[in-house]
Amino acid sequence: MSKIRFERVTCPDCGYTGEYKVYDSINIDDESKTNPMFKRKIIDNSLFLYTCSRCLSKYYIEYPFLYNDVKNNFMVWCLPDNATQAEIDNIKKVDMRTYKGILRIVIGKFDFIDKLNVFENKLDDIAIESIKTFVFSKVDKEERREIKSIMFNGLNMENKTLEFVFIKDQEQTKMMSVPFEFYGQIKNMLKEKEIKGFEIIDQASYSAFVEND
Ligand SMILES: [Zn+2]
Repeated sequence: MSKIRFERVTCPDCGYTGEYKVYDSINIDDESKTNPMFKRKIIDNSLFLYTCSRCLSKYYIEYPFLYNDVKNNFMVWCLPDNATQAEIDNIKKVDMRTYKGILRIVIGKFDFIDKLNVFENKLDDIAIESIKTFVFSKVDKEERREIKSIMFNGLNMENKTLEFVFIKDQEQTKMMSVPFEFYGQIKNMLKEKEIKGFEIIDQASYSAFVEND
């Protein structure tokens, strides 16, 4: 079951104080028929859209939430772009030793969608980050400066490839494909360290979770 509460918010346009629904945690399990709707609303941001009931102004309210995919055995804390180091550290401190799945923290919606694409396809995100480094190295220097991040976009079953999308200024731009065989090679090569709690695995951090020898 998802955890929901209501919070008061004052409209910046007309000053009217209303209430909006906050999802502290979102549970995705087999039984719930609302799952596809929920996931779509997170991805297109409509779950976070608030409409003032007096002046009908609309704006997005961003807050941290815990996404728990019971079927695929992973939990992701999704934090807004303005998350502080203290918020991140507090999540890392939580003792999760009894949980047997994958635990991650992401900052921002693109990184969140990236993790869903990785874990729903039963892939390893450290191997995916390693492939992103390779993908990035293939981009010419001029373009590299404009790329904010690379998002894993899922598998292309027909071509047997992994697909990556370049993110520039909150926009998705061009796509790059990597043969699926390459994933197997990378995965076999990496000696990964054990991860015990919630961690951020991204371009900046993933190599710290790999043994170097
Ligand atoms: Zn208003």
